[in-house]
Amino acid sequence: DLYAPERQNSRGWDLHDYDDLADVQGAIEPFKAVSWTANPLIAGNYKGDASKLIINPADPTDMVGKVTECDRQDVEVALSVAQSWTNCAEKDRAVILNKAADLYEENYAELFAVLIREAGKTPMDAIAELREAMDFLRYYATQIGFIDKREARGVIACISPWNFPLAIFTGQIAAALAAGNGVVAKPADPTPIIATLAVKLLHDAGVPNQCLQLLPGRGSVVGAVLVSDPRIDGVCFTGSTATAQTVNLAMADDVSPDAPLIAETGGLNAMIVDSTALPEQAVKDIVASSFQSAGQRCSALRLLYLQEDIAPEFMDMLFGAMDELVVGNPWDFATDVGPVINQSAAQGIQDHIAEAKTDGRLLKQIAAPVDGIFIGPAVIKVTGIADMQKEIFGPVLHVATFKSSQVDQIVTDINASGYGLTFGLHTRIDDRVEHLTRQLNVGNMYINRNQIGAVVGTQPFGGEGLSGTGPKAGGPHYLHRFTKQTMPTDTV
Ligand code: GLU
Repeated sequence: DLYAPERQNSRGWDLHDYDDLADVQGAIEPFKAVSWTANPLIAGNYKGDASKLIINPADPTDMVGKVTECDRQDVEVALSVAQSWTNCAEKDRAVILNKAADLYEENYAELFAVLIREAGKTPMDAIAELREAMDFLRYYATQIGFIDKREARGVIACISPWNFPLAIFTGQIAAALAAGNGVVAKPADPTPIIATLAVKLLHDAGVPNQCLQLLPGRGSVVGAVLVSDPRIDGVCFTGSTATAQTVNLAMADDVSPDAPLIAETGGLNAMIVDSTALPEQAVKDIVASSFQSAGQRCSALRLLYLQEDIAPEFMDMLFGAMDELVVGNPWDFATDVGPVINQSAAQGIQDHIAEAKTDGRLLKQIAAPVDGIFIGPAVIKVTGIADMQKEIFGPVLHVATFKSSQVDQIVTDINASGYGLTFGLHTRIDDRVEHLTRQLNVGNMYINRNQIGAVVGTQPFGGEGLSGTGPKAGGPHYLHRFTKQTMPTDTV
């Protein structure tokens, strides 16, 4: 049944039980020493000599594998053979996507190992990511039942980020395929290996070779060629706002005006904690929202607005909680904060922290190991969102204090930033919840909880303004955008 009202999200892997934990650790063990190869996969054939090294960001001695980056000619060949998936019946597409989810589940140990070694994920993040990838596959399979009387667009270019190199990579592809499109997928530069494994499982499940091709390589080569080729019928992109704008321009010049850009981009995500909040809960949620995944989520909390009456005690509690964080190599299952993705990302974050330190605005930073690409979680003082020049994609929280009379001004300032991805609110004033929900232009608003980890099917995820085009991923409107209205042909 395509509508599958009984569908449930994956239960995942519970590591609280020592036996289960030992099972997972044992299953991952053989993959600690494997070195993988990521080659372009064009019409079912791998090509290349895999000359570029992929190194574990947490451990410079760990060679995870090698990648072949596509050149322009490879992209040309892939586009010339790419096909839509419309010759496969809707229910068969659903069966294949569900089968792919099952294969992901069976191969969990290898996928975890690559997420940890290639992307610097902690085991808990790796579990959440694999669950989300499976949930996307199964959810979009059920959504096929709702796109009746609409048709596939053709071939979609899926360009995905390194921060969710399995979940978002899979989510984009699953949506495009579910709607009957073919896909040419460009994984993010730092994470081609997990993409290679995912594509292999999708093909093993039954997705035909011409309907899903993998083109690892640089954005300036592969991405640039893809988004300016008239054979593309749409682009699904997750990444920075600036890159989305570049993609939009390229498409405007060369691609049919009918081809959509479906983009999910950055944010300057804020949280308001007022004096009625439950401090223990708010601290826990701030730490998770700002520092989990080393702050490398587009949903992550970047700017805390804290009511000044409670600020001194609250900050003490927050700093105490930060002192408990374990920053280090994710192979240690106790690690809370792993590495950032690469040296150039680290440099940008470090420069930002150093500048704040020089200005006397660095309030706190936790120590981090030096033998990998780690950044100790940091807190920086600001006056408000107008102080925030750009999204800092790492474990850095900015804090501003406010008086109760300034809440409306904060809402105006957040809306004026142009970004609108996530927002968090800790309060026990019901009117405030209602008021802010109405006033703020954000995609996902979280009340009295953390503001990361949107759940497929129940918390569709995506922003507005500079944060994305919508419709939201993992929600009921997403698949429609990958389809078009069936046009009747008039005969005269
Ligand atoms: N959906 C993810 C979350 O809610 C964030 C996605 C992203 O970082 O692009 O945490």
